Amino acid sequence: MRFVIQKFGGTSVKDAELRSRVVDKVVKAKDSGLQPVVVVSALGRFPDPYATDSLLELVQANGNGVSSRDLDLLLACGETISGVMVAAAIRQRGLSAVFLTGPQAGIITTSTHGKARILRVETDPIVTLSRLGHIVIVAGFQGVSEEGEVTTLGRGGSDTTAAALGVALSAESIDIYTDVEGVMTADPRIISDARPLEYLSYNEVCHLAHEGARVIHPRAVEIAMQRNIPVWIKSTFSDAAGTLITNHIDAAQGALDISSDRIITGVTYRSGLVQVRLQEKGAEAKKEALKALATAGISLDLINYHPDLVAFSVNGSAGRQAASILESLGVQFELESGCAKVAVVGAGMAGVPGVMARIVETLDEQAVEILQTADSHTTIWVLVRETDLHKSVRALYDAFGLGNHN
Ligand code: ADP
Ligand code: ASP
Ligand code: MG
Repeated sequence: MRFVIQKFGGTSVKDAELRSRVVDKVVKAKDSGLQPVVVVSALGRFPDPYATDSLLELVQANGNGVSSRDLDLLLACGETISGVMVAAAIRQRGLSAVFLTGPQAGIITTSTHGKARILRVETDPIVTLSRLGHIVIVAGFQGVSEEGEVTTLGRGGSDTTAAALGVALSAESIDIYTDVEGVMTADPRIISDARPLEYLSYNEVCHLAHEGARVIHPRAVEIAMQRNIPVWIKSTFSDAAGTLITNHIDAAQGALDISSDRIITGVTYRSGLVQVRLQEKGAEAKKEALKALATAGISLDLINYHPDLVAFSVNGSAGRQAASILESLGVQFELESGCAKVAVVGAGMAGVPGVMARIVETLDEQAVEILQTADSHTTIWVLVRETDLHKSVRALYDAFGLGNHN
C-alpha cells in the first residue's frame, strides 16, 4: 500500500468546523490513490479544555502529588479525546475509520515518562486495518514501554509519532498540517510579512527547529531524514502548497542538490533565559561551580569560558536554583534575567566571511546591546534582552534579505 501520513496539530482539530477541513484533506489524499494514516494532537491550545497545557494546569493547580507515570496517563487523554473526535468526523462523511491509541498502534518506546523515545513501531494493526479499507487515526505523542506502561514523547511529540510511522510504513510522504502555510524564515508571530519557504533540506529545518522554530519537532526531522521520506509542512486552513523538506528536489532541470544553496535560512529565537556570569579567576572555584550545577541537573547553554569570566545561560525556571547553588559555594556571580537567544541559522554560512560583522552592525544600528555570542558552522547565536527581542529579529530578518528569497 502507498501510505501517506497526515498529522494535524492542536489548532487544526480544535472544533467541528476545522475537523471537517481535516476530513477534506484526508478525502483528497484517498482520492489521489494514497492510503492516509492520520496522526492527531490534543484539541486546541490552552485554555481550551483538553489541550495539553490545560491538562498540565489541572495537575499543577492540585499540588504536586501526581507521579510522572500518572501524568503520562493523564496527558495521553488529550490525544485520545482528539482521535475519537476526528474518527467520528471521518465516519460522518461516509468513510470507515478506526482510532488507535499509541499503545494500540504499536508505538513501542523507552520507559522514561515525559520524554520517552520511540524504539520501534509494530505496524501490523495499522497495515491490517488499512487493508480492510479503514482509515486509521493514531493518537500522537504517546506510546507504550516494553513494560506495558503508557508513555509520552515530550512536547511537540505528535510530529515524532508521524515521522516514526512514516518511516515504519515507508510512506510516500509525511504531511504535517498546522496553522501556518509552511516553514518561514522567521516566526510569523513576530514577522507578520514572513512568507513560507518552498523547500528546505532536512539539515536546514533541523537547525531552525532546534533553535526554536517550533513548526516541526527536530526529532521528527531526524527520523524522516534516516529514510529520506519527504516531509511537507502545510496549512489546514488553506490549499497553499506548503514547504517541502527533502534533500533532493525534482526541479524541471533534473535533480537539484539543495543542501547548501543559501547562506542564511532563517532567524529564530528562544526567550525566557537567564544569563549567569561567574566572576571568578580561580580555576578550582569555576570547576566546583560548574560541577555543582551539573549535579543539580541544571543544563547550561551558550557557554563562554575565559580566564576572567565564565558566562552561560540557563532556562528561566532554573535561574533561582542556579543562584542559590552559586551563593552557597560563595562564588562571585551576576545574573541577568529576561534574556532571549536569537539564532541566525544557515547551513551555507560555513566559511562565508562577514556574517558576524553584519549581525553586530545591524544590532548596533538598533541600539541593541549584545550580551553574549556563540557560533557553530551553521548558526550564530546572540543573547539579547527580551525587551530587544522583536526589534532584533526584525532587523536581522531585513539585514539578511529573508523577506526576498524563497
Ligand atoms: P501544531 O499545534 O500544529 O503542532 P505548533 O504551535 O507546534 O503547531 O507550531 C506552529 C507554530 O510555529 C506557528 O503558529 C508559528 O507561530 C510557529 N513558528 C515559529 N517559528 C516558525 C517558522 N520559522 N516558520 C513557521 N512557523 C513558525
Ligand atoms: N499535545 C502535545 C503538545 O502539546 C503534543 C503535540 O501537540 O505535538 O506538546
Ligand atoms: Mg507542534
